[in-house]
Amino acid sequence: MNSITVKAYAKINIGLDVLGKRPDGYHDVSMIMQSVDLHDTVTIRKTRFKSITVDTNLYFLPTDRRNLAYKAVEVFDGHHPIRCGLNIFINKRIPVAAGLAGGSTDAAAVLTGLNKMFQAGLSAEELMKLGVRIGADVPYCLLMGTALSEGIGEILKPIKPLPDCHILLVKPNISVSTKYVYENLRLNDSIRHPDIPAMIEAIEESDLYRLASLMENILETITIKEYPIIGGIKEKMKDLNALASVMSGSGPTVFGIFDSRQKAENAYRFFKSMDSGMQAILTKPYFPGNMN
Ligand code: ATP
Repeated sequence: MNSITVKAYAKINIGLDVLGKRPDGYHDVSMIMQSVDLHDTVTIRKTRFKSITVDTNLYFLPTDRRNLAYKAVEVFDGHHPIRCGLNIFINKRIPVAAGLAGGSTDAAAVLTGLNKMFQAGLSAEELMKLGVRIGADVPYCLLMGTALSEGIGEILKPIKPLPDCHILLVKPNISVSTKYVYENLRLNDSIRHPDIPAMIEAIEESDLYRLASLMENILETITIKEYPIIGGIKEKMKDLNALASVMSGSGPTVFGIFDSRQKAENAYRFFKSMDSGMQAILTKPYFPGNMN
């Protein structure tokens, strides 16, 4: 096999809670993850040279060690030596620095692709162990579907698939630093924590309406204060009949959950027509094994 192409799916956080800060500086989280049907395409090719090269369709992305796809090759090589050169081409469709795990999912796709290409035979668990060395979201990006994610993100428990719905992603034209958000999060007694167990219950009962009433992301307490546009998008999505509108990850993307295609399309058209550099993407939950 001289080349392989893997789809790298984006994720949203149906619920995101932060439980505390650990001595190593990481935070303990409790998050409900859901992959969405929006993907980058990662193509790995063997080359005659000894080097690793990364190319992408976006001129501003790093193509050296700072690219998580590059890091994934190094981590894989440390475990299962690769005896040839490789070129990784990433066709990015997932908005960058958006809270959608774009870099992590490319890294996961590289691990999956290399495992197949070199017939290394690593189990899902082994790949996840390599993945967490690249980033806390990489193990989930290998698993996909609907899952509870705990620890720093590496303790994963698949849960029943999210009830059928339509999802609108809207990313304002701003950058939010994940480091800034976590550094400014004050986990004092007055902060309200999202009810993750109740959200899981609602998913188990396939009750989209109850789930929507519970969806929350604790990091919004920081980002909305600093970037009011995130709060504005949330409100507008509600006006446009979203059952829930919540920020994904550390932002700035806001996603809306809709119970009909028509309502979701209507909201999509509204955000698309705004001349403000916002990105709007209409999508659906994605489950591995879907035929696409
Ligand atoms: P998360 O949701 O995991 O916090 P994110 O979606 O907010 O991630 P990314 O799209 O992964 O953020 O981008 C964050 C930074 O990572 C970017 O500024 C970019 O320079 C860097 N990066 C490294 N590799 C990649 C990649 N393959 N795709 C996108 N960004 C990458």
